Amino acid sequence: MSDLIVQKFGGSSLSTPGRIRQVARRVLDTRAAGTDLVVVVSAMGKTTNKLISLAERVCARPPDRELDMLVATGEQASCALMAMAIQDLGGQAVSFTGGQVGIVTEGPHTRARVRSVDAGRIRDALQDGKIVIVAGFQGMTDAAEITTLGRGGSDISAVALAAALGATVCEKLTDEDGIYTANPKMVPQARRLDRLSYEEMLELASLGAKILHPRAVEMAMRYGVRLHVRSSFTPAEGTWILKEDPTMEQIAVCGVTYDVSEARVSVLDLPDRPGVAAKIFSTLAQAEINVDVIVLNRTRGGLTDLSFTLPRGDLESGLRLLRDLAGREGYGEVVHDPDIAKLSIVGAGMRSHPGVAARMFEALAEAGINITLISTSEIKVSCVIPERDLAK
Ligand code: ASP
Ligand code: MG
Repeated sequence: MSDLIVQKFGGSSLSTPGRIRQVARRVLDTRAAGTDLVVVVSAMGKTTNKLISLAERVCARPPDRELDMLVATGEQASCALMAMAIQDLGGQAVSFTGGQVGIVTEGPHTRARVRSVDAGRIRDALQDGKIVIVAGFQGMTDAAEITTLGRGGSDISAVALAAALGATVCEKLTDEDGIYTANPKMVPQARRLDRLSYEEMLELASLGAKILHPRAVEMAMRYGVRLHVRSSFTPAEGTWILKEDPTMEQIAVCGVTYDVSEARVSVLDLPDRPGVAAKIFSTLAQAEINVDVIVLNRTRGGLTDLSFTLPRGDLESGLRLLRDLAGREGYGEVVHDPDIAKLSIVGAGMRSHPGVAARMFEALAEAGINITLISTSEIKVSCVIPERDLAK
């Protein structure tokens, strides 16, 4: 059996017919090197956004099942177009939907999870000498319902296929030529990284770096799929994401990232007794609101404050639930600030380099930036700061 590569192309690399042909040429170049190839594609350009706003114009609250039926067409179109472009350039290719190649999902519509992949159909097509093009972002339930995996979910499709097929590598080809120590648009001296561990990439992705879907990184880590993020325009190597290598000297901080999609909420004057935090967070969990960076203050005179962040999109409904609860339970005021940024540093070397957090706080102090919440894990430090100070 020859080597197998899974290549994933995002929507911006496929935004026009010309770009689709350019990607098709790139795919044929890879194929010419003698490897088997499975190509996972996103919808062209901003297609998914356009389909969602179309749905919102025919109906106030589109039902999730029909939304999945609709948005899955974006990837179905781009995989067919890619197969046509490759054939036109003299290659052999065949396109499939997620359901056709046995990507079985479970869980709710619009955010389904991959349960299993039955790769038989892909193997047969590869055996016939074809390049296999698969529609990303989608799967099918046991009941033959079309589902999608959540925004940006084509990364997850690619890693799931790479794991199921035992691919040598899962490549993500994008407009950027790899992963940088910071967003190069904001930090001109940012450097491209040659390699990162799964743990570091997972933290970076979860803390706001948009380059890989966190669930894709998680799955790659679980199944040992080697990831390579590289440019779709040049053949140069990009950034490899691999298992942590204990023989390597670890750098303390591999990257700085940020997230401006959250808001800060504080519930003041809580009684200092067991069960209060449980009540607050189970109320939010029941409404499927995810919270992050949680800080419980020290008690003064029997009362305590609880602060945390939640997605800005959930702020309004979260505040309503919390104010109801506070009224019923006799808690104090619920205050909030939507204009915050979560700034994070990530690095596996933090485990062995003391003082990294202190240096981050010093840097923020020197810039006159006020920190309102801090949270840490073994390999990351996150600070909540005013959004207006982010660029600084
Ligand atoms: N087209 C989908 C989205 O825009 C999936 C993807 O691009 O990965 O979210
Ligand atoms: Mg997209």
